[in-house]
Amino acid sequence: MRAHRQLLRPAVRLRRSRQTAAAVSERLWLFDLDNTLHDTSHAIFPRIDHGMTMAVAEALNVDIDTANRVRSLYWKRYGATMIGMVKHHGVDPHAFLHRSHDFDVNSLVRAEKALAYKLRRLPGRKVLLTNAPLGYARAVLARLGILRLFDSLWAIEHMRLHGEFRPKPSAALLRYVLAREGVPAHRAVLVEDTLANLRGARRAGLRTVHVYHPGTPFSRGRSQRPAYVDLRVNSVSDLLLRRRPLRG
Ligand SMILES: [Mg+2]
Repeated sequence: MRAHRQLLRPAVRLRRSRQTAAAVSERLWLFDLDNTLHDTSHAIFPRIDHGMTMAVAEALNVDIDTANRVRSLYWKRYGATMIGMVKHHGVDPHAFLHRSHDFDVNSLVRAEKALAYKLRRLPGRKVLLTNAPLGYARAVLARLGILRLFDSLWAIEHMRLHGEFRPKPSAALLRYVLAREGVPAHRAVLVEDTLANLRGARRAGLRTVHVYHPGTPFSRGRSQRPAYVDLRVNSVSDLLLRRRPLRG
């Protein structure tokens, strides 16, 4: 029930006290979760893949092959399978997200060394911005030992504008998030492994850091930095350990 109540809010704010006028001059770091703050490719993505397929198969009463086709169609079209399931089949988003992420992350999360320490060193406010569900995101951050370092969590449940789901890379979503966080776009940075989301962020006027991950779809062979990427790193630690990450 608790999760359902949280869905009614625009985002889960963890540290309300930081929302002061002084924070406006600070930099806001928007961090993606999967393949940015932790490596999902070895254990978690296969679980999510399986969970999504099963959730689609059960909701539509179809076989696994059909469910897989539907899943990838909606993922490509809407950026999240759940959105297509809600739009075309009227499924309950909360029940669907719960079913598709119904596994224990604790034994599966792989963290970079001393991640909490490195993240704490980074000056500025930190906010999570993930197209994944809130319950899953919260569990992963807790397991990584960095949940308390985030001022607020934006998950797929919060990415609703005028009644429609608008996940990343929507520029409208990003503008909405910045308005809610009280930060102008030029003070905000999106840190991400997915290039399409970084392109969306640049359209909304944010600065961008590409965390290269070989397991990210469409990332292969992208050795060059696109014009909409300000900084490219090979891991989030590479960013956090810089003395002056992203000048200006
Ligand atoms: Mg990602």
